[in-house]
Amino acid sequence: MKIIVPKNAGVCWGVERAIDMAHQTVHEQSRHKIVSLGPLVHNPEVVEDFQHKGVEVISDLKEAEEGTVVFRSHGVPLPYYEEAKVKGLEVVDATCPFVKKSQNYARRFSRQGYFVVIVGDEKHPEMKSVRSFTSGPHMVTMEPKDLEKLSSDQKVGLIAQTTIPLSVFQAMVEAAQKRFPEVKTHDTICDATKVRQEEAAETARQVDCMVIIGGKESSNTKKLTKICKEIQPKSHEIEHEREIDFSWFEGVEVLGVTAGASTPVPVIQRVCDYIIAHC
Ligand code: SF4
Repeated sequence: MKIIVPKNAGVCWGVERAIDMAHQTVHEQSRHKIVSLGPLVHNPEVVEDFQHKGVEVISDLKEAEEGTVVFRSHGVPLPYYEEAKVKGLEVVDATCPFVKKSQNYARRFSRQGYFVVIVGDEKHPEMKSVRSFTSGPHMVTMEPKDLEKLSSDQKVGLIAQTTIPLSVFQAMVEAAQKRFPEVKTHDTICDATKVRQEEAAETARQVDCMVIIGGKESSNTKKLTKICKEIQPKSHEIEHEREIDFSWFEGVEVLGVTAGASTPVPVIQRVCDYIIAHC
């Protein structure tokens, strides 16, 4: 069985940067208490590795009393910066610059008097962060029909969750342009996501089966799986190679393996080696 892995599969630049910043912090501040607000990345192995190095994961800033707090690549709600300062915590801000760009547009649109529509999944931590940078009315949605709830004379500014498919953002922009007299948009989808989605689709077209590796909480992995499934119904998402069912590969001549933006490249290699060793 031949295995195809897209060129850019796996960890993206923003997550790699966050992991590097956390490593550097561990190296420089080994005697201080270091916590990460939420798991640093959506990859249990990476998080576990940091836990062994003494980086504790907390779910609320209230749990941090001293030392250093790492803000992860998804970003955190704006009030947390002030709260950390008041508590005297040192902040290592690993928010991805692409997320920072969304935060800045959310703030700018709000200040200019636009109703801010953030196209994304409102439960995702990135959305909780980005919406906190607005200073006026806003909504987080991926449903064009939600725009009908707004008065049609609104000025509307649209930005996107960094990991959504471009088609979802485009559908919202078109619906907004039909309904409102003044619409400003900024496509804040990051290139890393676009590239991974395009390459995953391209790979899915060439293979008999796809395996998509990523954390259960990783939204960009779920999107890769959705895109692959639409093209190749035999697409399977896994977090770890032990979840592989080898009956998936019966009659498969070419297999595609890709991974979400939080999965380190050595993990992809390990999964491929595991498949080769067992097929
Ligand atoms: S997927 Fe894009 S926005 Fe998210 S961390 Fe990676 S580079 Fe940054």
